[in-house]
Amino acid sequence: MAKNQYPHCARCPRVVCFLMVKADEELPLEEAPAFCPMKLMPEILARATAEYDKPEVREFARLASVQEFECYEFLPEGRRTKIPRVEELIQFAHKCGYKRLGLAFCAGLANEARILTDVLENKGFEVVSVRCKVGATPKERIGIREEEKIRGPGWLETMCNPIVQAEVLNHEKVDLAIMLGLCMGHDTLFIQYCRVPMTVLAVKDRVFGHNPLAALYLAGSPYYDRLMAKTTRPEGFEPPTLGSEV
Ligand code: SF4
Repeated sequence: MAKNQYPHCARCPRVVCFLMVKADEELPLEEAPAFCPMKLMPEILARATAEYDKPEVREFARLASVQEFECYEFLPEGRRTKIPRVEELIQFAHKCGYKRLGLAFCAGLANEARILTDVLENKGFEVVSVRCKVGATPKERIGIREEEKIRGPGWLETMCNPIVQAEVLNHEKVDLAIMLGLCMGHDTLFIQYCRVPMTVLAVKDRVFGHNPLAALYLAGSPYYDRLMAKTTRPEGFEPPTLGSEV
């Protein structure tokens, strides 16, 4: 890999990996920028792509692409989207032959979890669900101080426990785990410990109705342009030492 070069697809001026050409034509990959991962690390691309030679991986990827295709309809006036993510989830789970789904949800989205459970059960799935507060472990267990409690000092506040959520769903051998609204970082731990196939229905965004992209759509507007403002780390901020296992 070239020194000081790293993949930068988000700033690619050419996107030769996705040009509109006929099936019998070749993509001009040599025109990719120097920071293109295809140029920087061809061995990694070859090794990763070889994973699709495994029949089960190939089939899973194929079904995912079929699902992607089915989310559009092709009308005389053009291509139109037609399936929201929750229906995609149902369709994809059926395609994969999944019967038993696992729901790891945030206590703050308990109502949504109930509705989703009804929806999925009505579509023929069995739903195992685990709330983030499972374990009823006080936050002191992970070193949270009184003044860092959301309920305020003096209250018993149980911690979000994404590792237990993951291990319960692993133990239940669900066919597919679904994350619903886990907090930032708690979701990271859930993903790290989850050993069954996993997808995300929604991530938590307390301000934007669990639609974090709303912030990006507003970043160019005067109402939220502070998001784009260049800032530095607050003075005196000492980053903690995190082990490689986190
Ligand atoms: S893979 Fe290469 S060509 Fe495609 S977007 Fe990334 S940098 Fe651009």
